Amino acid sequence: MVKPDSKLRLVANFIGVSISDGGFMQAIKVNANGWVDIARHIPSPNQDTRPDGQPISLIVIHNISLPPQQYGGNGVIQLFTNQLDPEAHPYYAEIYQLRVSSHFFIRRDGSLIQFVSCNQRAWHAGVSVWQGRERCNDFSIGIELEGSDFDTFEASQYVVLNSLLVGLKQAYPISDVVGHSDIAPGRKTDPGNFFDWSQVTI
Ligand SMILES: [Zn+2]
Repeated sequence: MVKPDSKLRLVANFIGVSISDGGFMQAIKVNANGWVDIARHIPSPNQDTRPDGQPISLIVIHNISLPPQQYGGNGVIQLFTNQLDPEAHPYYAEIYQLRVSSHFFIRRDGSLIQFVSCNQRAWHAGVSVWQGRERCNDFSIGIELEGSDFDTFEASQYVVLNSLLVGLKQAYPISDVVGHSDIAPGRKTDPGNFFDWSQVTI
């Protein structure tokens, strides 16, 4: 793992985790209700109850930006809360009626937003299959990184992602961390070739 530099320290302080000189990341803790206390909470209506009897065993990594490849705005928050204005951008007119969400959104500056309790089912995977099991939303947690298939991701995003993965693995019996393209091949391409899996250290 890259030795944390001062910018990463700022991010780590911001999100409330600490980094040692060796780069060890502490967990971003998930509470018993499935919420990360240090995340900004923006509840999404696009969620429902998970089916009984399926442990939460999968983490799915995505990328998203709205408008596409434009960063820092509120488009993703608006999409996940059904408030996207179809007149604000031509692409919004195509997607504003989607009813989708993810559990987490990691912005370019490393800030963390949570839309759905991990104990609830978010609607991020769509038609999907992993190791013969369909409907991955039933047993997975979705993490969106602010980005696209055409841009590298920020170091701060990997810092937060790794800390979040530690916390999620402490809270749930996670066995696999995959990309959306792994569970919906041919239909989805994210997190894309610019997502550096070697930086996922957990
Ligand atoms: Zn996706």
